[in-house]
Amino acid sequence: MQPNLSEFWLGRKSRLWILGTVAILALIVANAAWLVPTLGELNTNAYLLHRAIALDVRNQLSNFLGQQEADLTNAADILNQGSASPVEIISRLMKEDRPFESVTLLNTNGIEKFKTHRFLLITEADLKDRSSDPLFKAVFSGQTYISPVVISGTSEPLITIAAPLNKDSGYSAIVAEINLKFLLEVVRNITVGKSGAAYVVDGDGYIIAHPNSSLVFGRANILNRKLILKALNGEEADTRDKNLSYQNEQKVKVFAVALPFQPRGWAVIVENPEVDALASSRQILSVGIISFGLEILLLFLLVWNYLNLARAATLFYGERNQREAILNSLSDGVIEYDSKSQIVLMNPKAEELLGVHFKDIGGRAITPDFSKNNPKYRGLVELMYPALAPYSSSVKEIPGTRVKTMEIHISSPELKLVVTLTQVVDQNGSVRGFLKILHDISRERLLSKIKSEFVTIAAHQLRTPLSAIKWSLKLLLDGDAGALNKEQESFLERGYETNERMIKLVNDLLSAARIEEGRFGYDFKDINMDEFLETVIKNYSEIVSRKSIKLKFEKIDGALPLVYADPEKLSLAFNNLLDNAIKYTPAGGQVLVKLEKKGNYALVSIADTGVGIPDSEQTRVFSKFFRASNVMRMETEGTGLGLFIVHNIIKRHGGDVHFTSHESKGTTFTFTLPLKKELVPKEESVPLEEFLETT
Ligand code: ADP
Repeated sequence: MQPNLSEFWLGRKSRLWILGTVAILALIVANAAWLVPTLGELNTNAYLLHRAIALDVRNQLSNFLGQQEADLTNAADILNQGSASPVEIISRLMKEDRPFESVTLLNTNGIEKFKTHRFLLITEADLKDRSSDPLFKAVFSGQTYISPVVISGTSEPLITIAAPLNKDSGYSAIVAEINLKFLLEVVRNITVGKSGAAYVVDGDGYIIAHPNSSLVFGRANILNRKLILKALNGEEADTRDKNLSYQNEQKVKVFAVALPFQPRGWAVIVENPEVDALASSRQILSVGIISFGLEILLLFLLVWNYLNLARAATLFYGERNQREAILNSLSDGVIEYDSKSQIVLMNPKAEELLGVHFKDIGGRAITPDFSKNNPKYRGLVELMYPALAPYSSSVKEIPGTRVKTMEIHISSPELKLVVTLTQVVDQNGSVRGFLKILHDISRERLLSKIKSEFVTIAAHQLRTPLSAIKWSLKLLLDGDAGALNKEQESFLERGYETNERMIKLVNDLLSAARIEEGRFGYDFKDINMDEFLETVIKNYSEIVSRKSIKLKFEKIDGALPLVYADPEKLSLAFNNLLDNAIKYTPAGGQVLVKLEKKGNYALVSIADTGVGIPDSEQTRVFSKFFRASNVMRMETEGTGLGLFIVHNIIKRHGGDVHFTSHESKGTTFTFTLPLKKELVPKEESVPLEEFLETT
């Protein structure tokens, strides 16, 4: 009927691992796709920022040194021209805002002649011979000389600049010591993040300018840092290259950019703790990691949801398959339709019985004229609208259940069906549709008919000889064939009684068979119940007195309308009940017959103080051939057909039979008969009970 979707889900489940892995990989790639370039760009930005600072420092350094050099060369020019005295020139250079520490003139032999120092008093003895200095050699060949950085004792770092002079001036060079503390101010004024620094290293790796001056005076040498080495070799360097990374004096890993300061062979470095320098990169990285984590979590939830869904679906389809398997294997047809008469479900047996296919009519609304143009659907229409069927019995509720049942004969295909009806109710209790179970009784009906016919014929055939025997025995017993002795009379009496029992059995069989065929044949008349019951009861006076049983009849208080009934059949029913009450009540007991009125019904009860019916057997009381175990032990006579006949006769009259019974205490049978003709069914119907598995 339906494709097996549970396998579909299960198949998917096994592939879920692959899907999950692919999804995680995709997430990694997607995150990497934005994270890597972003981080790269942020690193580059950090680098560019630090480099810009380094460039600035380098420019300031260059300007500063250039300025000093220029001042000194100007002074040299003036000395060469002789337009001012050496004393005048030197004092101009030594002005307060100038970085010149000392200014000296060398004579042509390289011996210091004039020397002025900012803080020291220079005597004749302080003047040195510098003829063998590299300085003198440089100026001697007409070049400006700049010395390496010198730090001696606690003094600030110094460099010496010497500018050559014309021999005509009487001097060979003007030499100035320049205090590099001005450089210190430059690097101090530079801000590099929260705790970074810009500093300058000389060609030997000594720090010559640093915001932390102790590094300068402490002669810190950092030549061991590859970054510094590279910069001193004239190349720009930065710690994006992991080989160049290092920890600063505080053992903090730093992000650093180093620029060479070519003219001097120095290097300018800008360094910043990596945590600060790459703070935004780290933040972005954290955001990336968190979002990746969240995505994985989301993926996990998705997978979890999917698995739950798959599990629910497996369960659902499992149940559906199970239900379908059950429906498919049923030997009864099942059809369900909703409140709009749209077919919801139909099992193969129903398709077979009705000669239709679910795929053609599933979901379609079946109206009463649905089969007008489509005669093949006539059976289906008759089933759904029993009033259109050639025959439909009244609807009966199966006792003790909410299930209703009826017999429907459909014309195309020609079938006799016992249909069990159930309302399909949703959670709110409203009717969502109807479920009909179709039990084909055509064959059973046929068999039952054949059986009943057989029983009828057999019973008829038996009745004639039994009547003949009865009359012969009667003749003999009455002494018409001559006087009998006691022994002969007793034998004949036993024979007569046995024959009577045979006649009762045959009559009961005949009645049951006719009831089953639905042709018991009723002849209704208006009857007076009081008189009717009294007449029947009177017939038992002899039997009850013989059995020492008190039989009482409690008439109705006031008048009762006439009852529309078949006196012969009703008498059969009442006789059966009364006969049972007397038969199953031991001597000394009593039987009370009561006639009452209850609404539109006359109510007759026959209460005895007899053996009762065992609790466990009470459900079968109205079935054919039922005889309770306690009765079988004590009273062998009886056909077990009496109550079946009673039940059917009363039902045919539009009434009902009930009983209450307690073993060893007594039994009360009660039957009702309508007091209004309209309540009597129009026609005799065939009892359904024997075709229902529930009864
Ligand atoms: P039977 O021919 O055996 O009486 P019935 O159909 O009349 O057949 O009754 C069926 C069975 O119901 C009886 O055999 C008996 O076990 C039980 N029965 C019917 N009426 C009574 C009663 N008044 N007291 C006790 N048992 C009864």
